[in-house]
Amino acid sequence: MLSKEEQLLQSYFGYETFRPGQKETIDQIINLNNTLAVMPTGGGKSICYQIPGLSMNGTAIIISPLISLMKDQVDALNSYGIPATYINSSLTQAEQQSRLHDIGKSRYKFVYVAPERFESSFFVNTIKRIPIALVAFDEAHCISQWGHDFRPSYRSIVSNLKQFSNIPVFVALTATATEEVISDIQQLLRIEHVINTGFARENLAFHVIKGRDKTSYLRSFLAEHEEESGIIYTATRKQADSLFEQLTRRGISVAKYHAGMTEIERKEAQSSFIHDETTVMIATNAFGMGIDKSNVRYVIHYAMPMNIESYYQEAGRAGRDGEPSDCILLFSPQDVQLQKFLIEQSMMDDSSKQNEYRKLQEMINYCHTHGCLQSFILDYFDDKNAEAGCGRCSNCVQRQNKTDITEEAQKILSCVKRMDERYGVTMTAKVLKGSNDKKVKQFGLDKLSTYGIMSAYTEKELIEHIHFLIAEKLVATEEGRYPTLRLNQQSVEVLKGKRQVEMFTAPIPTTEEADFY
Ligand code: ADP
Repeated sequence: MLSKEEQLLQSYFGYETFRPGQKETIDQIINLNNTLAVMPTGGGKSICYQIPGLSMNGTAIIISPLISLMKDQVDALNSYGIPATYINSSLTQAEQQSRLHDIGKSRYKFVYVAPERFESSFFVNTIKRIPIALVAFDEAHCISQWGHDFRPSYRSIVSNLKQFSNIPVFVALTATATEEVISDIQQLLRIEHVINTGFARENLAFHVIKGRDKTSYLRSFLAEHEEESGIIYTATRKQADSLFEQLTRRGISVAKYHAGMTEIERKEAQSSFIHDETTVMIATNAFGMGIDKSNVRYVIHYAMPMNIESYYQEAGRAGRDGEPSDCILLFSPQDVQLQKFLIEQSMMDDSSKQNEYRKLQEMINYCHTHGCLQSFILDYFDDKNAEAGCGRCSNCVQRQNKTDITEEAQKILSCVKRMDERYGVTMTAKVLKGSNDKKVKQFGLDKLSTYGIMSAYTEKELIEHIHFLIAEKLVATEEGRYPTLRLNQQSVEVLKGKRQVEMFTAPIPTTEEADFY
């Protein structure tokens, strides 16, 4: 016997079974328990509120910051014969009023709106009067000030809506949320039930590429993937412009998207990419929120982004159709400098800056870890469902060639100790190398017993080793602009010989790393 919800799934949407987490979420909502669903992109979050919306009395209101997705969602529902509409700034005043009139007459089962709509008292008064089935907050991480895309207007409507007496249940949905974001959303919406299916995307292969000329890497990559659709994210508009020009000059057909372009230019670029007229999109992070293109086969980050949340969300635009896809990060030490500069330049207060530095350090660690990249991301989000290794990422693939570097690690850690845990990566590498650097001498570091004990290595190699130890949490760093190295519990275990350290045999040399840390 099919449940009512399964019948709705089959009769309206034509799907046989629920995906993980959908049934649990739907059951909670139907029982009028406020619910948060955390599911990966493409996991099927819409069904989670659409089925309850269909089975409950009244109109379901879906609040979403993704204006561009509303029309698609509404078109899809209409094509299943479900009355749905959206109101946003893309409509004329007359059209908005006519839709609002129909909403007031309860003619729709689903109404999609942007958060800003709640600034209109006309809209607010209309939905106050009609029977409501549920209110869903899509992209709910935007509600939280701890989220990477905080929107104050989104947060403020929550308190506003709680005054309404006709909303039986709140639903929040997101694909990216750390523990602190989850508990923030829970508190704000009084949610007791969280359904978290984990973040793992089985079809994505993550890669970190270091020490390569980025543009020549891209050229050969694009030559090999001519037919495939992909996004290349840059850290700044300037980078996007310059890369666009370089590739265009070489006869490669690419589109460009960033906030410095006119709306018409952006729309044209987006439409040519969505309709596969141009296969490659070069863009800043302004591009993507709400781009529901399912056949993106790769997302390349031309520079390291500022935190794992942004990275996973942007990289996650690859492979929404479930087909194998690649997420490639081209790392160079300059990227770190740029991100630190952006943090320093921002208007944030000191404690927020400190928080950004902490997140940035995790992003840097991702670029230096030798562990599974997917696991690293899942650990970051505290995903309890994470498996040990994905077997697909660049580190898992290289893992076969490991060497024991316990002795090297011990030398590095002893040096940190001898330097009284007061210096950063570059200085420590210089001391280990036995450098003639003026500062080394000025601080008397050439008198230490560890001075020159790793002179066989280049400074670059030593820096790479130290970053590896940081990434593996075998040594700690202070957060901030000039982080210093400190020993932790794991360092002590390595020093006492209670813990082995393994690294890939041939770490790819990084370019000019010494100049940047
Ligand atoms: P999300 O919002 O989580 O990124 P969507 O709700 O857009 O994901 O769903 C992604 C795709 O999966 C859509 O094409 C949707 O129709 C499909 N889908 C959702 N639930 C199911 C299901 N139970 N069985 C098969 N396909 C599903």
